[in-house]
Amino acid sequence: MFLSVFDVFKIGIGPSSSHTMGPMSAANRFLDLILSPDWPRPKGAAIASIRVSLHGSLAFTGVGHGSDRAVILGLMGERPDKVDPDRMDEIVGLVRATGRITPAGHPSYAFQPKEDLVLDKKTPLPGHANGMMFSGYDRDGRLLLKRIYYSVGGGFVVTDTELETMRASKAQASERKVPFPFSSAKQMLEMAARSGLSIAQMKRANEETAMSREELDAGLDQIWAAMTNCIDRGLKGEGIMPGGLKVKRRARMIHDKLQEEWRSNKTNPLLANDWLSVYAMAVNEENASGGRVVTSPTNGAAGVVPATIRYYLHFHEDADAAGIRDYLLTAAAIGGIIKHNASISGAEVGCQGEVGSASAMAAAGLAAVMGGTPEQIENAAEIALEHHLGMTCDPVGGLVQVPCIERNALGAVKAVTAASLAIKGDGTHFVPLDACIETMRQTGVDMNERYKETSTGGLAVNVVEC
Ligand code: SF4
Repeated sequence: MFLSVFDVFKIGIGPSSSHTMGPMSAANRFLDLILSPDWPRPKGAAIASIRVSLHGSLAFTGVGHGSDRAVILGLMGERPDKVDPDRMDEIVGLVRATGRITPAGHPSYAFQPKEDLVLDKKTPLPGHANGMMFSGYDRDGRLLLKRIYYSVGGGFVVTDTELETMRASKAQASERKVPFPFSSAKQMLEMAARSGLSIAQMKRANEETAMSREELDAGLDQIWAAMTNCIDRGLKGEGIMPGGLKVKRRARMIHDKLQEEWRSNKTNPLLANDWLSVYAMAVNEENASGGRVVTSPTNGAAGVVPATIRYYLHFHEDADAAGIRDYLLTAAAIGGIIKHNASISGAEVGCQGEVGSASAMAAAGLAAVMGGTPEQIENAAEIALEHHLGMTCDPVGGLVQVPCIERNALGAVKAVTAASLAIKGDGTHFVPLDACIETMRQTGVDMNERYKETSTGGLAVNVVEC
């Protein structure tokens, strides 16, 4: 099994990797398919109009997550990593006003969002909670092309047949041959012991089967640049976040207070916690506002990893760029194992799979840059994940704001504590990471659907929206 660090950390837009980036990528795939020779079409027939339906969790919380806008943007040829967040309203407005989809390199297609983009809450698709159906018709209304896609978490999108193959073979994004093909924490530790390499070194060797060292380092630096820019933008943002809940952005105000404390040399026994929290909240407020973020491993959980890296730069004297690369590689190794054996999707296993996974990845990354052995790193990831087990996904109003923003702050604090606890031990511990991941998977299977990103249970129904 191989999942690239660039599959785990993807630059995109908020507020949700599965509900915003996924639908946009699915629309991109359908557009690409229309032009490809990979489907049989009657002679002379051409697609003249498009219809899309969103199902399951995407239908229930799609509007709050901007899934409808993401589909329109994707059909207009915009890609999650390239779209300019400042132009999105204009593009969506154009489609709504003209009823036409006009992607570059394509003819124009009829598409009236009000009729042709359906949120179907009654008919879940069988493969996954986040289902999408794209259909193309000729000018006489005859169906020419239909595809089902699933957004399976972290911005990953697969067709129904790819999903079946993936499940049958437990394959991930790639079957690439790599020198260290670990698919469990146990295998990872055995390979580390045999090779004498760190987890980051093994992950690096795997990545370098497809790119040069320079390309890998440049890509990792780009990921970190996008993360740290997101923190900086988030620390400057003010006002109310979109969606109707009227939740205020708080990161800037907290940051101002922390800077004031710093300047006046005031003692703050919770200094590290406060900085971790404000960094994480800055990212998630930016995400909730539809800004540029990096999946880590998802958008909803995008604050934990950047916050703990900024914490590392802020509080660890020997922190440097090489350390950040090792951190990202180690965190991606843990994220890949979790995704392979359980899930990183709130719609599949609740928030334990999103913020829980992010916290485990961050704890592992931090333990690595603190000089931890592979066993200590595995221990750190396990501690962080264990103490998120059972956590549900119940965003109020279907928006990635409450409880998501503060939850990232707490995920970051737990990650630092987990890394610190693990580093103080010798790596031996009671619950193996693999057992913890399997527990998360089983808990997710048993979890009532109300708590899996449908906003029909938990906080989502007990907080009055104003
Ligand atoms: S509650 Fe957790 S899983 Fe659900 S949307 Fe928020 S961050 Fe994502």
